Order: sequence, then structure tokens, then C-alpha cells
Amino acid sequence: MTAGLVAAGSRWEMFGANIYLLIGLLLAGGLLVLIVVAIWTGVKVVWWREQRRRADAAELRRKLGPNGRPYPPASRGVCGRCARASDTVYHLAAGERLCAGCYALSVSVKRGDAESTEIAEKTE
Ligand SMILES: [Zn+2]
Repeated sequence: MTAGLVAAGSRWEMFGANIYLLIGLLLAGGLLVLIVVAIWTGVKVVWWREQRRRADAAELRRKLGPNGRPYPPASRGVCGRCARASDTVYHLAAGERLCAGCYALSVSVKRGDAESTEIAEKTE
């Protein structure tokens, strides 16, 4: 009778120990999941910022003209130099209207590009 009670009691103790072990394992597992999610989120945030930075740099390069300055406002129209109609005619501050080709040429000449001035001298 007493031996049976002792056995039952130790079984209850074992059950209690197992429950605590189970709860401990669950807590550890939950903590591990949280840590993994936090690390994954951090990696994604860093990756997202890098993508954003690259996209901004590409957008800036697209907006800048050959002289490294932003393109002047543009619209459809007729180029004032080559007199050709174009979808993109830049309105310069001086009032001149140039198509993309003439604008690139005028910018490279203004910059004193050695190559383009050489070519201009040869053709004249
Ligand atoms: Zn033109």
C-alpha cells in the first residue's frame, strides 16, 4: 500500500518535471523563432535600404545631363538649331530650344571637350 503510494508520488513528480521540461523547451523554441524572425527582418531592412540607395543613384544619373547637371525643362517641339521636330526639346535658360542631339553637342562644346572641338575643327 505504501509502496504503491510512493510509486504514484514519484510518477507525479516525474510528470511535473516533464511538464517543466516541456514548457522550458517550448519557451526556448519560441525564443529561437523570435530571434530568427528578428535577424531575418534586420537582413531584409538592410537589403531594402541598399536597393533603395541604388535606385536613387540610378534615378539621379537618369535625370542628369551629359554635363553632370540636371536637364532643363523639356517638351515636344521643333529644335532651334537643326529645325527638326522632336518629342524632347529642351528649353534652355537663354531661350534657345534644342533637341536631345543638339543639346548634348552644345553641352560638350561648352564644357570645352577636347575631342568634340577637335572634330569640329577638322570638319570646318
Ligand atoms: Zn537639333
